[in-house]
Amino acid sequence: MNILVMNCGSSSLKYQLINMETKDVLAKGICERIGIEGSRHVYSAKDKDKRVIEKAMPNHSIAVNMVLETLIDKEVGVINGINDIKAVGHRVLNAGKYYPNSVIVDENVKNAIRDCFDLGPLHNPANLTGIIECEAAMPNIPQIAVFDTAFHQTMPPKAYLYAIPKEYREKYNIRRYGFHGTSHSYVSKRLVKFTGLDINNSKVIVCHLGNGSSISAVMNGKCVDTTMGFTPLEGLMMGTRSGDIDPAVVEFLMNKEGLSVKEVMDILNKKSGVLAMSGISSDFRDVEDAANNGDEDAINTQEAFSYRVAKYIGAYVAAMNGVDAIAFTAGVGENDSAIRGLVCKYLGYLGVVINPEANKVRGKESELTTPDSKVKVCIIPTDEEMAIAEETVALISK
Ligand code: AMP
Repeated sequence: MNILVMNCGSSSLKYQLINMETKDVLAKGICERIGIEGSRHVYSAKDKDKRVIEKAMPNHSIAVNMVLETLIDKEVGVINGINDIKAVGHRVLNAGKYYPNSVIVDENVKNAIRDCFDLGPLHNPANLTGIIECEAAMPNIPQIAVFDTAFHQTMPPKAYLYAIPKEYREKYNIRRYGFHGTSHSYVSKRLVKFTGLDINNSKVIVCHLGNGSSISAVMNGKCVDTTMGFTPLEGLMMGTRSGDIDPAVVEFLMNKEGLSVKEVMDILNKKSGVLAMSGISSDFRDVEDAANNGDEDAINTQEAFSYRVAKYIGAYVAAMNGVDAIAFTAGVGENDSAIRGLVCKYLGYLGVVINPEANKVRGKESELTTPDSKVKVCIIPTDEEMAIAEETVALISK
């Protein structure tokens, strides 16, 4: 059974075609600069050479059709016809209050995604366009929406309520939503399995540390808290996002620098975080190199990042009254042993004992702690495309 996973951005379309029996990625690619001059389609298929097709893609409809044509192409394609695709799983950013799970797309689902445009102005419109174009190109193939927010819908009010007037909260649905839900769902389940826990009696913390970073507390398989909020700006410091900050800084900067709200939000989203604190790069590899050469700003950045991760872990241990296992995932979590080591230095009070040799591992499902450690700390690689594909199969098999 082949599942096509689609992730549509405002000017891009990323996709993977996965054989769910063998878990092989048959083909994957990205259409870039859709609607902009210089658009191109980068395509790679299993056992075939990578292809870069430079062709105008004035809109998503043309991009979707180009992807399908490539997948069935006699020379570079991997399937005989469109009907070899059983279903399409779409990554959708925000389902607002509407859906706590993935759903098969119908008119109601499309209306709900449309109704949440305000909550994900950059992503939701593009996600909906992707769905509509796939429906048009593959009219008999089910389309599934997999929401980044869905896994976090089980949070209790005490975790998702903001302390602002009810009038505004209710009028505009302002609350903590949380993001990276597909990753948190996938990694928490793998962690429970990998550590031999009973999901119905488990307390785990997932640290998704990548360019965007978030942590979730998952109790008995259900999310009870997460660090991202109304938007992905809240919580941890990230590659270019500030994370938690006193909102008064926004007004202060506007007044002092004569900036608009949009300009300050742009600074907080795109020019802050690891990039701003290090003054070097948003990429932890560059920061680590500089730290190893004694750069003080780089050292402070690594320490501030790890300190914040450790503080949230502490908060979530309190929220769940304990923790059985902790997972590191995503680019930094899976690969950066320095950051993992710095975070784990704070976890002695939990009885965490790290095996330094095991902590050298990169990108592989593995345990970092010694057998006598009271809490297991593991690397669990995330695979958001596979998670979307699995959700899709689960829904169409019901
Ligand atoms: P992601 O958003 O999950 O793709 O993660 C991307 C980030 O992971 C990059 O910006 C890097 O900072 C980080 N990263 C990837 N590989 C490594 C590595 N080998 N060591 C340290 N950081 C890494």
